[in-house]
Amino acid sequence: MSLILYNTLTRRKEPFAPADPARVTMYVCGPTVYSYAHIGNARPPVVFDVLHRLLKARYGQVAYARNITDVDDKINAAAKAQGTPISAITDKFARIYREDMTALGVLPPTAEPHATAHIREIIAMVEALIASGHAYAAEGHVLFHVPAFAAYGALSGRNMDDMIAGARVEVAPYKKDPADFVLWKPSSPDLPGWDSPWGRGRPGWHIECSAMIGKVLGPTIDIHGGGNDLIFPHHENEIAQSVCAHGGAPLARFWLHNGFLTMDKEKMSKSLGNVLLVNELVKIVPGEAIRWALLSAHYRQPLDWSDDLVTQAKRTLDRLYLALDQTKHIQAAQVPVPEAVAAALNDDLNTPIAMAEMANLVRALNSAATDAEKAKLKGELLATGAVLGVLQQDPAVWLKGSADSSGVDAAHVESLIAQRNAARKARDFKEADRLRDAIAALGVVIEDRADGTHWRRAG
Ligand code: AMP
Ligand code: ZN
Repeated sequence: MSLILYNTLTRRKEPFAPADPARVTMYVCGPTVYSYAHIGNARPPVVFDVLHRLLKARYGQVAYARNITDVDDKINAAAKAQGTPISAITDKFARIYREDMTALGVLPPTAEPHATAHIREIIAMVEALIASGHAYAAEGHVLFHVPAFAAYGALSGRNMDDMIAGARVEVAPYKKDPADFVLWKPSSPDLPGWDSPWGRGRPGWHIECSAMIGKVLGPTIDIHGGGNDLIFPHHENEIAQSVCAHGGAPLARFWLHNGFLTMDKEKMSKSLGNVLLVNELVKIVPGEAIRWALLSAHYRQPLDWSDDLVTQAKRTLDRLYLALDQTKHIQAAQVPVPEAVAAALNDDLNTPIAMAEMANLVRALNSAATDAEKAKLKGELLATGAVLGVLQQDPAVWLKGSADSSGVDAAHVESLIAQRNAARKARDFKEADRLRDAIAALGVVIEDRADGTHWRRAG
Protein backbone atom coordinates (compact mmCIF):
# COMPACT_ATOMS: atom_id res chain seq x y z
CA MET A 1 0.00 0.00 0.00
CA SER A 2 1.60 3.29 -0.96
CA LEU A 3 1.80 6.26 1.35
CA ILE A 4 -0.05 9.19 -0.20
CA LEU A 5 0.80 12.70 0.99
CA TYR A 6 -0.61 16.07 0.00
CA ASN A 7 2.23 18.13 -1.41
CA THR A 8 1.75 21.89 -1.05
CA LEU A 9 4.20 22.40 -3.91
CA THR A 10 2.12 20.52 -6.49
CA ARG A 11 -1.23 21.13 -4.74
CA ARG A 12 -2.22 17.48 -4.96
CA LYS A 13 -1.90 14.16 -3.21
CA GLU A 14 1.04 12.14 -4.49
CA PRO A 15 2.47 8.72 -3.69
CA PHE A 16 5.50 9.22 -1.50
CA ALA A 17 8.78 7.42 -2.07
CA PRO A 18 12.07 8.60 -0.56
CA ALA A 19 14.96 9.43 -2.89
CA ASP A 20 17.06 6.96 -0.88
CA PRO A 21 14.99 4.36 1.03
CA ALA A 22 18.03 3.69 3.25
CA ARG A 23 17.90 7.30 4.50
CA VAL A 24 14.55 9.05 4.53
CA THR A 25 15.07 12.73 5.36
CA MET A 26 12.59 15.07 7.02
CA TYR A 27 12.84 18.58 8.45
CA VAL A 28 10.26 20.50 10.46
CA CYS A 29 10.74 24.13 11.49
CA GLY A 30 11.08 24.17 15.27
CA PRO A 31 10.42 26.75 17.95
CA THR A 32 11.96 30.14 18.55
CA VAL A 33 12.86 29.70 22.20
CA TYR A 34 11.90 33.00 23.82
CA SER A 35 8.75 31.89 25.65
CA TYR A 36 6.45 28.96 26.42
CA ALA A 37 4.88 26.95 23.59
CA HIS A 38 1.11 27.23 23.32
CA ILE A 39 -1.12 24.37 22.32
CA GLY A 40 -1.22 25.63 18.68
CA ASN A 41 2.59 25.50 18.55
CA ALA A 42 2.31 21.84 19.60
CA ARG A 43 0.24 20.85 16.58
CA PRO A 44 3.14 20.67 14.07
CA PRO A 45 5.47 18.57 16.29
CA VAL A 46 2.63 16.18 17.19
CA VAL A 47 1.36 15.81 13.62
CA PHE A 48 4.86 15.29 12.21
CA ASP A 49 5.61 12.87 15.03
CA VAL A 50 2.89 10.61 13.61
CA LEU A 51 4.51 10.89 10.19
CA HIS A 52 7.91 10.19 11.79
CA ARG A 53 6.49 7.01 13.38
CA LEU A 54 4.79 5.95 10.14
CA LEU A 55 7.99 6.44 8.12
CA LYS A 56 10.03 4.58 10.75
CA ALA A 57 7.62 1.65 10.60
CA ARG A 58 7.89 1.60 6.80
CA TYR A 59 11.59 2.36 6.18
CA GLY A 60 13.33 1.60 9.48
CA GLN A 61 15.49 4.67 9.87
CA VAL A 62 14.47 8.29 9.38
CA ALA A 63 16.85 11.25 9.56
CA TYR A 64 14.46 13.75 11.15
CA ALA A 65 15.70 17.21 12.12
CA ARG A 66 13.65 19.77 14.05
CA ASN A 67 15.65 22.92 14.75
CA ILE A 68 15.86 25.30 17.68
CA THR A 69 15.91 28.96 16.68
CA ASP A 70 18.07 30.46 19.40
CA VAL A 71 18.98 33.76 17.76
CA ASP A 72 16.09 36.10 17.08
CA ASP A 73 15.01 39.62 17.91
CA LYS A 74 12.15 38.31 20.09
CA ILE A 75 14.75 36.48 22.21
CA ASN A 76 16.85 39.64 22.50
CA ALA A 77 13.79 41.59 23.60
CA ALA A 78 12.86 38.94 26.21
CA ALA A 79 16.41 38.94 27.63
CA LYS A 80 16.41 42.71 27.85
CA ALA A 81 12.97 42.86 29.48
CA GLN A 82 13.91 40.23 32.06
CA GLY A 83 17.46 41.50 32.59
CA THR A 84 18.94 38.04 31.95
CA PRO A 85 21.59 36.82 29.53
CA ILE A 86 20.27 35.58 26.19
CA SER A 87 21.55 32.05 26.78
CA ALA A 88 19.57 31.87 30.04
CA ILE A 89 16.38 32.52 28.05
CA THR A 90 17.18 30.14 25.19
CA ASP A 91 18.43 27.31 27.45
CA LYS A 92 15.39 27.58 29.67
CA PHE A 93 12.78 27.59 26.91
CA ALA A 94 14.52 24.90 24.83
CA ARG A 95 14.48 22.67 27.92
CA ILE A 96 10.82 23.42 28.63
CA TYR A 97 9.97 22.75 24.97
CA ARG A 98 11.62 19.32 25.16
CA GLU A 99 9.76 18.53 28.40
CA ASP A 100 6.45 19.63 26.89
CA MET A 101 7.02 17.48 23.81
CA THR A 102 7.89 14.47 25.96
CA ALA A 103 4.66 14.98 27.89
CA LEU A 104 2.79 14.90 24.58
CA GLY A 105 4.43 11.61 23.60
CA VAL A 106 6.52 13.18 20.82
CA LEU A 107 9.60 11.09 20.03
CA PRO A 108 12.81 13.12 19.97
CA PRO A 109 13.87 14.00 16.43
CA THR A 110 17.14 12.40 15.34
CA ALA A 111 18.79 15.84 15.19
CA GLU A 112 17.99 19.10 16.94
CA PRO A 113 20.29 21.65 15.29
CA HIS A 114 20.66 25.03 17.00
CA ALA A 115 21.02 28.09 14.80
CA THR A 116 23.86 29.54 16.89
CA ALA A 117 25.87 26.34 16.33
CA HIS A 118 25.65 26.85 12.53
CA ILE A 119 26.88 30.40 12.05
CA ARG A 120 29.84 29.17 9.97
CA GLU A 121 27.48 27.34 7.58
CA ILE A 122 25.15 30.35 7.44
CA ILE A 123 28.00 32.70 6.52
CA ALA A 124 29.25 30.23 3.88
CA MET A 125 25.78 30.03 2.34
CA VAL A 126 25.41 33.81 2.25
CA GLU A 127 28.82 34.07 0.57
CA ALA A 128 27.77 31.48 -2.01
CA LEU A 129 24.58 33.45 -2.74
CA ILE A 130 26.56 36.65 -3.26
CA ALA A 131 29.03 34.81 -5.50
CA SER A 132 26.25 33.39 -7.67
CA GLY A 133 24.63 36.82 -8.07
CA HIS A 134 21.52 36.06 -5.98
CA ALA A 135 22.41 38.28 -3.05
CA TYR A 136 24.14 41.59 -2.39
CA ALA A 137 25.66 43.40 0.55
CA ALA A 138 24.49 46.91 1.44
CA GLU A 139 25.08 48.99 4.58
CA GLY A 140 26.15 46.04 6.75
CA HIS A 141 23.18 43.98 5.56
CA VAL A 142 23.11 41.19 3.02
CA LEU A 143 19.89 40.80 1.06
CA PHE A 144 18.55 38.09 -1.16
CA HIS A 145 17.55 39.64 -4.47
CA VAL A 146 14.15 38.10 -5.21
CA PRO A 147 14.00 39.04 -8.94
CA ALA A 148 17.20 36.98 -9.41
CA PHE A 149 15.25 33.78 -8.70
CA ALA A 150 12.66 33.22 -11.42
CA ALA A 151 10.86 30.40 -9.57
CA TYR A 152 10.15 32.59 -6.52
CA GLY A 153 6.52 32.21 -5.45
CA ALA A 154 6.05 28.64 -6.75
CA LEU A 155 5.27 27.15 -3.33
CA SER A 156 2.77 29.76 -2.21
CA GLY A 157 1.37 30.35 -5.69
CA ARG A 158 1.87 34.07 -5.34
CA ASN A 159 3.11 36.36 -8.04
CA MET A 160 5.32 39.33 -7.40
CA ASP A 161 2.48 41.88 -7.24
CA ASP A 162 0.49 39.77 -4.71
CA MET A 163 3.56 39.41 -2.60
CA ILE A 164 4.33 43.06 -2.45
CA ALA A 165 0.70 43.97 -1.86
CA GLY A 166 0.03 41.23 0.71
CA ALA A 167 3.23 40.96 2.67
CA ARG A 168 4.36 43.57 5.07
CA VAL A 169 7.61 43.97 3.17
CA GLU A 170 9.93 46.27 4.93
CA VAL A 171 10.89 49.27 2.87
CA ALA A 172 14.54 50.13 3.38
CA PRO A 173 16.79 52.45 1.41
CA TYR A 174 19.42 49.74 0.88
CA LYS A 175 16.98 47.32 -0.82
CA LYS A 176 17.20 47.00 -4.61
CA ASP A 177 13.70 45.57 -4.72
CA PRO A 178 10.94 45.83 -2.08
CA ALA A 179 10.60 42.01 -2.00
CA ASP A 180 14.29 41.45 -1.20
CA PHE A 181 14.75 39.87 2.22
CA VAL A 182 17.49 39.88 4.82
CA LEU A 183 20.12 37.12 5.00
CA TRP A 184 22.43 38.94 7.40
CA LYS A 185 22.05 42.11 9.45
CA PRO A 186 24.39 44.24 11.55
CA SER A 187 24.37 43.94 15.36
CA SER A 188 24.96 46.85 17.71
CA PRO A 189 27.44 46.05 20.53
CA ASP A 190 24.62 45.21 22.97
CA LEU A 191 23.16 42.54 20.66
CA PRO A 192 24.45 39.05 19.88
CA GLY A 193 26.68 39.08 16.84
CA TRP A 194 29.40 37.21 14.98
CA ASP A 195 32.25 38.48 12.85
CA SER A 196 31.55 38.14 9.15
CA PRO A 197 32.83 39.56 5.84
CA TRP A 198 30.07 42.22 6.22
CA GLY A 199 31.03 43.24 9.76
CA ARG A 200 29.72 42.06 13.11
CA GLY A 201 26.17 40.85 12.71
CA ARG A 202 23.61 38.07 12.99
CA PRO A 203 21.62 35.96 10.55
CA GLY A 204 18.07 36.50 9.34
CA TRP A 205 15.60 33.79 10.35
CA HIS A 206 15.06 32.16 6.93
CA ILE A 207 18.73 31.47 6.20
CA GLU A 208 19.11 29.58 9.48
CA CYS A 209 16.80 26.78 8.33
CA SER A 210 18.39 26.59 4.85
CA ALA A 211 21.89 26.30 6.32
CA MET A 212 20.91 23.74 8.96
CA ILE A 213 19.02 21.57 6.46
CA GLY A 214 22.05 21.61 4.12
CA LYS A 215 24.43 20.69 6.92
CA VAL A 216 22.39 18.09 8.78
CA LEU A 217 20.37 16.44 5.99
CA GLY A 218 21.81 17.45 2.61
CA PRO A 219 20.89 19.71 -0.34
CA THR A 220 17.62 17.93 -1.21
CA ILE A 221 15.41 16.37 1.45
CA ASP A 222 12.36 14.14 1.11
CA ILE A 223 9.92 16.01 3.33
CA HIS A 224 9.77 19.53 4.73
CA GLY A 225 7.00 20.35 7.18
CA GLY A 226 5.60 23.19 9.25
CA GLY A 227 2.46 25.18 10.02
CA ASN A 228 0.70 26.67 7.00
CA ASP A 229 1.51 30.19 8.16
CA LEU A 230 5.11 29.40 7.24
CA ILE A 231 4.42 28.78 3.52
CA PHE A 232 4.94 32.47 2.84
CA PRO A 233 7.37 34.02 3.28
CA HIS A 234 9.45 31.60 5.39
CA HIS A 235 9.37 28.48 3.23
CA GLU A 236 9.34 30.42 -0.01
CA ASN A 237 12.53 32.12 1.19
CA GLU A 238 14.10 28.85 2.35
CA ILE A 239 13.55 27.47 -1.16
CA ALA A 240 15.04 30.55 -2.84
CA GLN A 241 18.16 30.45 -0.65
CA SER A 242 18.79 26.70 -0.82
CA VAL A 243 18.04 26.22 -4.52
CA CYS A 244 20.28 29.15 -5.50
CA ALA A 245 23.11 28.11 -3.16
CA HIS A 246 22.98 24.50 -4.33
CA GLY A 247 23.13 25.02 -8.09
CA GLY A 248 19.41 24.53 -8.68
CA ALA A 249 18.89 21.35 -6.62
CA PRO A 250 15.36 21.37 -5.13
CA LEU A 251 15.22 21.89 -1.36
CA ALA A 252 12.44 19.41 -0.62
CA ARG A 253 10.50 16.94 -2.74
CA PHE A 254 7.40 17.04 -0.54
CA TRP A 255 6.12 20.07 1.37
CA LEU A 256 3.59 19.35 4.11
CA HIS A 257 1.71 21.99 6.09
CA ASN A 258 -0.65 21.65 9.03
CA GLY A 259 -3.75 23.76 9.51
CA PHE A 260 -4.18 26.14 12.38
CA LEU A 261 -5.49 25.56 15.85
CA THR A 262 -8.19 28.02 16.84
CA MET A 263 -10.07 28.84 20.02
CA ASP A 264 -13.67 30.00 19.55
CA LYS A 265 -12.84 29.95 15.84
CA GLU A 266 -10.11 32.53 16.33
CA LYS A 267 -6.49 31.71 15.57
CA MET A 268 -4.54 30.98 18.76
CA SER A 269 -1.61 33.33 18.83
CA LYS A 270 0.52 35.17 21.30
CA SER A 271 -0.36 38.49 19.72
CA LEU A 272 -4.11 37.88 20.16
CA GLY A 273 -3.54 36.84 23.78
CA ASN A 274 -5.85 33.78 23.57
CA VAL A 275 -3.14 31.24 24.27
CA LEU A 276 -3.24 28.09 26.32
CA LEU A 277 0.27 27.04 27.29
CA VAL A 278 1.26 23.39 26.93
CA ASN A 279 3.28 23.68 30.13
CA GLU A 280 0.17 24.76 32.09
CA LEU A 281 -2.21 22.32 30.44
CA VAL A 282 -0.09 19.22 31.11
CA LYS A 283 -0.36 19.98 34.82
CA ILE A 284 -4.12 19.50 34.79
CA VAL A 285 -4.76 17.13 31.86
CA PRO A 286 -2.78 14.01 30.91
CA GLY A 287 -0.46 14.74 27.97
CA GLU A 288 -1.88 11.75 26.13
CA ALA A 289 -5.38 13.26 26.17
CA ILE A 290 -3.97 16.51 24.75
CA ARG A 291 -2.23 14.50 22.04
CA TRP A 292 -5.44 12.62 21.24
CA ALA A 293 -7.31 15.93 20.96
CA LEU A 294 -4.60 17.37 18.67
CA LEU A 295 -4.89 14.36 16.36
CA SER A 296 -8.69 14.29 16.37
CA ALA A 297 -8.96 16.46 13.24
CA HIS A 298 -7.19 15.85 9.95
CA TYR A 299 -3.88 17.72 10.08
CA ARG A 300 -4.65 20.02 7.14
CA GLN A 301 -8.00 21.10 8.61
CA PRO A 302 -8.39 23.78 11.25
CA LEU A 303 -8.87 22.41 14.77
CA ASP A 304 -11.03 24.33 17.21
CA TRP A 305 -9.78 23.77 20.74
CA SER A 306 -12.15 23.59 23.71
CA ASP A 307 -12.33 22.10 27.21
CA ASP A 308 -14.92 19.71 25.88
CA LEU A 309 -12.56 18.43 23.18
CA VAL A 310 -10.01 17.41 25.82
CA THR A 311 -12.65 15.95 28.14
CA GLN A 312 -13.94 13.80 25.29
CA ALA A 313 -10.39 12.75 24.43
CA LYS A 314 -9.78 11.67 28.01
CA ARG A 315 -13.05 9.69 28.09
CA THR A 316 -12.23 7.91 24.85
CA LEU A 317 -8.80 6.96 26.18
CA ASP A 318 -10.44 5.74 29.41
CA ARG A 319 -12.58 3.38 27.31
CA LEU A 320 -9.57 2.11 25.36
CA TYR A 321 -7.43 1.60 28.46
CA LEU A 322 -10.30 -0.07 30.31
CA ALA A 323 -10.61 -2.67 27.53
CA LEU A 324 -6.85 -3.29 27.77
CA ASP A 325 -7.04 -3.56 31.55
CA GLN A 326 -9.93 -5.99 31.42
CA THR A 327 -7.91 -8.22 29.06
CA LYS A 328 -4.63 -7.87 30.88
CA HIS A 329 -4.38 -11.65 31.40
CA ILE A 330 -4.39 -12.05 27.59
CA GLN A 331 -1.08 -11.69 25.78
CA ALA A 332 -1.50 -9.36 22.79
CA ALA A 333 -0.70 -11.00 19.44
CA GLN A 334 2.21 -9.51 17.48
CA VAL A 335 0.21 -8.23 14.51
CA PRO A 336 0.43 -5.24 12.18
CA VAL A 337 -2.15 -2.45 12.25
CA PRO A 338 -5.42 -3.57 10.66
CA GLU A 339 -6.01 -2.88 6.98
CA ALA A 340 -8.52 -0.06 7.67
CA VAL A 341 -6.03 1.79 9.90
CA ALA A 342 -3.20 1.41 7.38
CA ALA A 343 -5.51 2.67 4.61
CA ALA A 344 -6.48 5.74 6.66
CA LEU A 345 -2.97 6.71 7.72
CA ASN A 346 -1.52 6.07 4.28
CA ASP A 347 -4.17 8.37 2.85
CA ASP A 348 -2.47 11.63 3.82
CA LEU A 349 -2.35 10.81 7.55
CA ASN A 350 -6.06 10.53 8.18
CA THR A 351 -5.80 10.26 11.97
CA PRO A 352 -9.53 10.81 12.72
CA ILE A 353 -10.44 7.73 10.68
CA ALA A 354 -7.65 5.69 12.30
CA MET A 355 -8.96 6.77 15.71
CA ALA A 356 -12.53 5.80 14.79
CA GLU A 357 -11.14 2.38 13.82
CA MET A 358 -9.69 2.09 17.31
CA ALA A 359 -13.18 2.56 18.71
CA ASN A 360 -14.37 -0.30 16.45
CA LEU A 361 -11.49 -2.49 17.65
CA VAL A 362 -12.43 -1.85 21.27
CA ARG A 363 -16.07 -2.70 20.65
CA ALA A 364 -14.96 -5.94 18.99
CA LEU A 365 -12.52 -6.67 21.81
CA ASN A 366 -15.17 -6.13 24.48
CA SER A 367 -17.51 -8.58 22.80
CA ALA A 368 -14.96 -11.13 21.50
CA ALA A 369 -15.84 -14.70 22.39
CA THR A 370 -12.47 -16.44 22.38
CA ASP A 371 -9.08 -15.65 23.86
CA ALA A 372 -7.47 -16.05 20.42
CA GLU A 373 -9.80 -13.42 19.00
CA LYS A 374 -9.11 -11.13 21.96
CA ALA A 375 -5.34 -11.56 21.56
CA LYS A 376 -5.54 -10.53 17.89
CA LEU A 377 -7.79 -7.51 18.54
CA LYS A 378 -5.68 -6.41 21.48
CA GLY A 379 -2.56 -6.67 19.31
CA GLU A 380 -4.20 -4.60 16.59
CA LEU A 381 -5.27 -1.97 19.09
CA LEU A 382 -1.78 -1.68 20.53
CA ALA A 383 -0.15 -1.60 17.09
CA THR A 384 -2.46 1.25 16.05
CA GLY A 385 -1.72 3.03 19.32
CA ALA A 386 2.02 2.72 18.65
CA VAL A 387 1.76 4.51 15.28
CA LEU A 388 -0.41 7.24 16.76
CA GLY A 389 1.80 7.49 19.84
CA VAL A 390 -0.98 6.62 22.30
CA LEU A 391 -2.05 3.67 24.47
CA GLN A 392 1.50 2.66 25.37
CA GLN A 393 1.32 3.05 29.14
CA ASP A 394 0.24 0.55 31.78
CA PRO A 395 -3.59 0.63 31.65
CA ALA A 396 -3.83 0.47 35.44
CA VAL A 397 -1.62 3.55 35.75
CA TRP A 398 -3.72 5.47 33.22
CA LEU A 399 -7.02 4.46 34.83
CA LYS A 400 -5.90 5.54 38.28
CA GLY A 401 -4.51 8.82 36.94
CA SER A 402 -1.74 10.74 38.57
CA ALA A 403 -2.58 12.71 41.69
CA ASP A 404 -1.54 15.77 39.70
CA SER A 405 -4.07 15.48 36.94
CA SER A 406 -6.99 13.76 38.64
CA GLY A 407 -6.65 14.80 42.25
CA VAL A 408 -7.04 11.15 43.36
CA ASP A 409 -4.78 10.03 46.19
CA ALA A 410 -3.95 6.43 45.22
CA ALA A 411 -2.67 5.39 48.66
CA HIS A 412 -5.87 6.64 50.30
CA VAL A 413 -8.08 4.80 47.77
CA GLU A 414 -6.13 1.59 48.26
CA SER A 415 -6.38 1.85 52.01
CA LEU A 416 -10.20 2.29 51.78
CA ILE A 417 -10.42 -0.71 49.43
CA ALA A 418 -8.40 -2.83 51.88
CA GLN A 419 -10.72 -1.74 54.71
CA ARG A 420 -13.78 -2.55 52.60
CA ASN A 421 -12.43 -5.99 51.73
CA ALA A 422 -11.70 -6.64 55.39
CA ALA A 423 -15.27 -5.58 56.26
CA ARG A 424 -16.70 -7.92 53.61
CA LYS A 425 -14.57 -10.76 54.88
CA ALA A 426 -15.93 -10.09 58.37
CA ARG A 427 -19.43 -10.03 56.77
CA ASP A 428 -19.92 -6.46 58.00
CA PHE A 429 -21.83 -5.44 54.85
CA LYS A 430 -23.07 -2.18 56.31
CA GLU A 431 -19.47 -1.02 56.84
CA ALA A 432 -18.48 -2.37 53.41
CA ASP A 433 -21.26 -0.33 51.77
CA ARG A 434 -20.27 2.75 53.71
CA LEU A 435 -16.68 2.36 52.47
CA ARG A 436 -17.88 1.82 48.90
CA ASP A 437 -19.77 5.14 49.10
CA ALA A 438 -16.73 6.83 50.60
CA ILE A 439 -14.63 5.57 47.69
CA ALA A 440 -17.24 6.70 45.13
CA ALA A 441 -17.24 10.13 46.74
CA LEU A 442 -13.56 10.42 45.82
CA GLY A 443 -14.50 10.14 42.15
CA VAL A 444 -13.32 6.54 41.92
CA VAL A 445 -15.07 3.50 40.42
CA ILE A 446 -14.32 0.06 41.84
CA GLU A 447 -14.85 -3.26 40.19
CA ASP A 448 -14.59 -6.65 41.92
CA ARG A 449 -12.98 -9.16 39.61
CA ALA A 450 -11.80 -12.76 40.11
CA ASP A 451 -8.28 -11.54 40.81
CA GLY A 452 -9.29 -8.87 43.30
CA THR A 453 -10.71 -5.35 43.44
CA HIS A 454 -9.69 -2.91 40.67
CA TRP A 455 -10.21 0.83 40.71
CA ARG A 456 -10.04 3.74 38.31
CA ARG A 457 -10.89 7.42 38.06
CA ALA A 458 -14.59 7.94 37.38
CA GLY A 459 -13.59 9.95 34.26
P1 AMP B 1 5.60 30.89 16.25
O1 AMP B 1 5.92 30.79 17.71
O2 AMP B 1 4.40 31.74 15.95
O3 AMP B 1 6.80 31.16 15.40
O4 AMP B 1 5.13 29.41 15.80
C1 AMP B 1 5.94 28.28 15.92
C2 AMP B 1 5.33 27.15 15.14
O5 AMP B 1 3.99 26.89 15.58
C3 AMP B 1 5.21 27.39 13.65
O6 AMP B 1 5.49 26.16 12.97
C4 AMP B 1 3.78 27.76 13.42
O7 AMP B 1 3.34 27.38 12.14
C5 AMP B 1 3.08 26.95 14.48
N1 AMP B 1 1.86 27.59 14.97
C6 AMP B 1 1.77 28.79 15.60
N2 AMP B 1 0.51 29.04 15.96
C7 AMP B 1 -0.23 27.96 15.57
C8 AMP B 1 -1.63 27.61 15.65
N3 AMP B 1 -2.52 28.42 16.24
N4 AMP B 1 -2.02 26.44 15.12
C9 AMP B 1 -1.13 25.61 14.54
N5 AMP B 1 0.18 25.87 14.42
C10 AMP B 1 0.64 27.04 14.93
ZN1 ZN C 1 12.25 26.95 8.72
